[in-house]
Amino acid sequence: MLQPIEPVTDPALPPGHPRDLGGPWHSEAACRSDEAGLFFAPSKEPTAARLLREEAAKRVCARCPVMLECREHAVSQPEPYGVWGGMTAAERRVVLARRRRREAELQHSAPPIAAAG
Ligand code: SF4
Repeated sequence: MLQPIEPVTDPALPPGHPRDLGGPWHSEAACRSDEAGLFFAPSKEPTAARLLREEAAKRVCARCPVMLECREHAVSQPEPYGVWGGMTAAERRVVLARRRRREAELQHSAPPIAAAG
């Protein structure tokens, strides 16, 4: 189980990304040493530039020792922006929608709990 995330104060880093957070897995984030703008889109970023930037960020994630922890955090929060755990925000929304649909199906298919008596 992940622990609550405590922010650390590093004004050089954008807020809200693993490298900017304190916690049990954040200190191992591969993105801690990468350039600040790789994981979040600047305003009015052209599509081609966004795709290249996201692929570069995903390459950093691919070698990150805490990718699964990061991904689970970003899907379950959910984190609305940026590349986290090797996934874009749009990709995480798909995973979260599937997860919620699966959970709803499980709730509807579960047998009723018998009343104690
Ligand atoms: S998976 Fe990517 S975004 Fe998450 S901590 Fe690792 S490098 Fe950073």
